[in-house]
Amino acid sequence: MKLPFIFAKRFVAGESFTESVPKIEHLNEKDIKLTLDLLGENVKNRQKADETVENYIKLLRGIDEHGLESSISIKLTMMGLDIDRNYCRDNLFKLMEVAREQNQFIRIDMEGSENTQVTLDIFNEAFDEFGSHIGTVVQSMLHRTKDDVDALAEKGADIRLVKGAYKEPADIALQNMPAIREAFKEEAKVLLEKTSFPRFGTHDDELIEWLKTYTTENNIPKDQFEIQMLYGLREDTMVRLTQEGYNTRIYVPFGTDWFPYFSRRLMERKENVWFMLSTMFKK
Ligand SMILES: Cc1cc2nc3c(=O)[nH]c(=O)nc-3n(C[C@H](O)[C@H](O)[C@H](O)COP(=O)(O)OP(=O)(O)OC[C@H]3O[C@@H](n4cnc5c(N)ncnc54)[C@H](O)[C@@H]3O)c2cc1C
Repeated sequence: MKLPFIFAKRFVAGESFTESVPKIEHLNEKDIKLTLDLLGENVKNRQKADETVENYIKLLRGIDEHGLESSISIKLTMMGLDIDRNYCRDNLFKLMEVAREQNQFIRIDMEGSENTQVTLDIFNEAFDEFGSHIGTVVQSMLHRTKDDVDALAEKGADIRLVKGAYKEPADIALQNMPAIREAFKEEAKVLLEKTSFPRFGTHDDELIEWLKTYTTENNIPKDQFEIQMLYGLREDTMVRLTQEGYNTRIYVPFGTDWFPYFSRRLMERKENVWFMLSTMFKK
């Protein structure tokens, strides 16, 4: 049974790009940048993966036409990773050609740990070819991330650091919040020291306050990193951070295939259930 979109509208801007644009233009007007995410994951056949690539290309063109200050985030499992690794890489390169031609930026989101290595391998191949047009994500909850951050920082890659949204076992990932926060801080220090413009994706006040204090104490200017949050969460905080002079970006998901993304947001925080319910009663 498919739930009606009204359930998701707190966290998802619309079921199509056209429907989403009016909801997000005001963020650019407040000097908050965007990254658009066409929802979906784990595509199992080539026809659907090819369609996804075409849709991503249309999205890049749509961003250009609407003059939005926006990059896009993509998932490799939507571009055929579960079908064939090299087919997926070729699909990514097809998309990257358009991004380079239009001077746009694409970030590969990080999915579950079964895909971490292959995602970083494909990212590395794309980085060698497309350089500053591509970035990826690392998850501080994974035990391996410290080493990944060292290697990615060494290359000067454009990285978004997040805690990690997927449930992982104890031999693969840290299981408690203080340890995940501690790892996040240590990895953030490396990215701030060694890369030119790290991005931090979190709604966590403790981490945001720590970032502000650490960068001030270490004379790292506000224009050398970015704070990112998800659509529908803490927009007031983003406006305040922007007014304080920080670079900010909101990750805006849209599309008909919103259910897995929506479920992760509900599982993350019990307050999100209340947000979702309260939105349902608003016009
Ligand atoms: C821009 C962006 C991109 C992301 N990309 C990926 C990705 O590619 N792969 C991936 O695995 N994950 C991704 N994530 C999700 C991420 O891994 C976390 O699952 C998610 O951000 C929840 O962790 P958190 O640090 O935001 O806060 P949480 O760990 O959920 O919460 C910690 C504390 O922060 C505060 N807080 C949290 N939310 C709110 C709120 N709405 N209002 C008020 N206080 C709040 C509360 O004090 C809470 O106790 C992304 C997140 C963001 C923001």
